[in-house]
Amino acid sequence: MAGLPTTARVVIIGGGVVGTSSLYHLCKAGWTDCVLLEKNELTSGSTWHAAGNVPTFSSSWSLMNMQRYSTELYRGLAEAVDYPMNYHVTGSLRLAHTKERMQEFQRARGMGRYQGMDIDVVGLDEIKRRYPFIETHELKGALYDPSDGDIDPAQLTQALAKGARDMGAKIIRFCPVTGVRRENGEWVVETPQGEIRCEIVINAAGYRAAEVGKMFGRDVPMMVMSHQYILFEEIPELAAWSKEQGRKLPLLRDVDTSYYLRQEKSGMNLGPYERNCRAHWATHNDPMPEDFSFQLFPDDLDRLEHYLADAVARVPILGTAGLSKVINGPIPYAPDGNPLIGPMPGVPNAFEACVFTFGIAQGGGAGKVLAEWVTEGQTEWDMWSCDPRRFTSFAAAPDYCVAKGMEIYGNEYAIQFPRHAWPQGRNRKLSPLHDRIKALGGQFDAYNGWERATWYAGPGDDTSEEATLTFRRDGPWQKRVREECLAVRDAAGILDLPGFSRFNLEGPGAADWLAKQVTGLVPKPGRIGLVYFADDKGRIVTEMSVVRHGEDQMTLITAAVAQWHDFEWLKSRMPANAAFTLTDRTEEYSTQILAGPNSRKILTEVCDADLALPWLTHQETTIAGRWAKLVRVSFAGELGWEIHTKVADTATVFDAVWAAGQKHGLKPFGMYALDSLRLEKGYRAWKGDLSTDYSVLQGGLERFVKWDKPDFRGKAALQNEKQQGVKKRFVTLVVENPGDCDAPYMSTLWHDGRIVGETTSGGWGHRIDKSIALGMLRTDLAEPGTAVEVEIFGDRFKAVVQNDEPLWDPKNERLRA
Ligand SMILES: Cc1cc2nc3c(=O)[nH]c(=O)nc-3n(C[C@H](O)[C@H](O)[C@H](O)COP(=O)(O)OP(=O)(O)OC[C@H]3O[C@@H](n4cnc5c(N)ncnc54)[C@H](O)[C@@H]3O)c2cc1C
Repeated sequence: MAGLPTTARVVIIGGGVVGTSSLYHLCKAGWTDCVLLEKNELTSGSTWHAAGNVPTFSSSWSLMNMQRYSTELYRGLAEAVDYPMNYHVTGSLRLAHTKERMQEFQRARGMGRYQGMDIDVVGLDEIKRRYPFIETHELKGALYDPSDGDIDPAQLTQALAKGARDMGAKIIRFCPVTGVRRENGEWVVETPQGEIRCEIVINAAGYRAAEVGKMFGRDVPMMVMSHQYILFEEIPELAAWSKEQGRKLPLLRDVDTSYYLRQEKSGMNLGPYERNCRAHWATHNDPMPEDFSFQLFPDDLDRLEHYLADAVARVPILGTAGLSKVINGPIPYAPDGNPLIGPMPGVPNAFEACVFTFGIAQGGGAGKVLAEWVTEGQTEWDMWSCDPRRFTSFAAAPDYCVAKGMEIYGNEYAIQFPRHAWPQGRNRKLSPLHDRIKALGGQFDAYNGWERATWYAGPGDDTSEEATLTFRRDGPWQKRVREECLAVRDAAGILDLPGFSRFNLEGPGAADWLAKQVTGLVPKPGRIGLVYFADDKGRIVTEMSVVRHGEDQMTLITAAVAQWHDFEWLKSRMPANAAFTLTDRTEEYSTQILAGPNSRKILTEVCDADLALPWLTHQETTIAGRWAKLVRVSFAGELGWEIHTKVADTATVFDAVWAAGQKHGLKPFGMYALDSLRLEKGYRAWKGDLSTDYSVLQGGLERFVKWDKPDFRGKAALQNEKQQGVKKRFVTLVVENPGDCDAPYMSTLWHDGRIVGETTSGGWGHRIDKSIALGMLRTDLAEPGTAVEVEIFGDRFKAVVQNDEPLWDPKNERLRA
């Protein structure tokens, strides 16, 4: 065993597939002064008992990308590091029982092909041809993924470890980390074998990540489920077939029933994600044991009976096989089922690469992403889906984690419908108006835990969860969303927006510093303006509204979900000796959006503010005796104001505005209407249209770039890009004769039989009565009037590039009214 070094540049805690992949990728990036510390033996956590399936399928672009990278890495790894391993690329069939499932597959096929994979959607004959033992009752078709397969997780981990060691990294086994402390800007990692001083620490402790997180004072949002698979003895018929064919059966996933079935040698492996699932180590009287290395939970076959019966009916030869072994091991879940990869929130020079439910499939890609975070501070692909900062403190509450983890596990293969609000873990953060909004018919979804109305149901509307399980535009909400949009267009609408993130930036030098961080101009005192933050590559990091109160006194406002991400982006870039401060004031204030041509009349009745002040100004006033800040902007694209109040005053102010608004046609509107209204204005949404996958210039945001400023982050990269020519451009498309669905995120755009771009968001514009898609298109095609095709769930529709101006009120006359 190698001795413990006293210093290292990076220390990784945990030697499962993810820790070793992180180590391997750090070394590949040239960072070889890295040490991995493992409590027990490598692979002794979840990794040793994993089934080893390596799918590429995901409904998320970034997860699919990460998994695709894994498959590519694993194919060449044995040779690259000279460590033989079993990796069977068998392909897989993912079965569909419903039309909606086929739609999901069509979308995945589109994304997969865009990523260069040969994924296909196949019919029953093709299923039978590829899998002769299957019964096709109740099936509509399947997704065939040729690069799916299974790998030996222990061999994979050892191969990554060997590759890293060969490049100079150290791996110390049987060396648990017992604590960490910060000394002179360095980390000191404590173990029974001694201490290591290092620059950077990575928590890759798998299902023990919360325990390790505590050492840093960080509450990791996670819980642990028990997950089982059953191994069956040899099936002679299968053995004979395999011998004759010289191959294994493709892996089968019956996702609507919720299990996978895989050939394992000449037997089978059945792994259900059962609805009646079980959390472990979730209560005080069931604590996580100090050591669970290479251990399993007791078998719990009762939970699996239904799935076993279903699988036998689907593949009858399974019924002839004896059961040989059950594996029941711990598997960690974050509250949305995605792993945590990236900066550890609130902790300097510390990162997370943990809480993986599909760590074998994602481990390869995760190592790449983690290494980029560490060595470059940014990632090649936008990885918000896995960024630890997507959860804020409320999400670490154990009861929340358990409720969400069980919900996701029990619905692991569920289709993600755009209008479906998952029911667990709700009502965590309520607006003071919650009861009023509910009484008005509000239907809710959670945004960073805040319950916001998505739409307002009327009498007789179907508000069941089932009604939302569709990709179709015309669900029960559609008629109401239209009414809400038209009320905003013709009279006035009010939207309660609790949890808008806001940070105060104030003190000498604040404005000068901010000016160097953003691509454009910081608004003048008394004004509000949109600013964009680019990274060193000129890519879009985030967008914020700056409300400038005084020379060096500002409030920065950003999306609810961006709260921790954006705060850290600012905080970590402030000079150590700054004379100005940044404080998060999100919990103290709330916002209501009042929009529509009658909004001025309504405000006139409740306050004596100067409502003639132009667009993009702000002022303080009093409504119903309470302080309020009126900010003249409108994401809805009509005359309007944001009304900012102290949280405690929200209800009083709302009641006054609501009462005054009745004779002016004031109606409540929700997030779905707001999304429709902003699409018509071409306003970008956070982490859909705005992401680090695109540069500020690609995003069509050059009007927010002030080239003649002395310097700003990303300037050199953007100048260079401008000189070279911007390769793709943000466009607004109108989809002609669009069918039943609008374009979801990452629908491919086609021209002359080739993919030429992708959508970043889409939906119906009720004021213009058209299906809109925002997206990125090859620059030569991004000319108004060009016709392309957009692929929506497998069907292509004509889509026409629009003028580079809003579809609704192109000259912003209504906004400025
Ligand atoms: C039954 C089952 C089947 C599965 N099948 C699949 C599958 O087919 N495909 C797939 O992709 N995923 C599968 N998974 C999930 C997969 O096992 C995990 O996602 C993956 O192994 C996680 O790897 P990891 O490196 O993050 O964590 P782990 O493998 O748990 O590694 C974490 C390591 O950290 C070490 N550690 C913890 N605390 C400390 C400390 N204080 N100091 C030092 N070291 C510490 C632990 O000893 C452990 O070795 C399955 C899981 C189960 C339970």
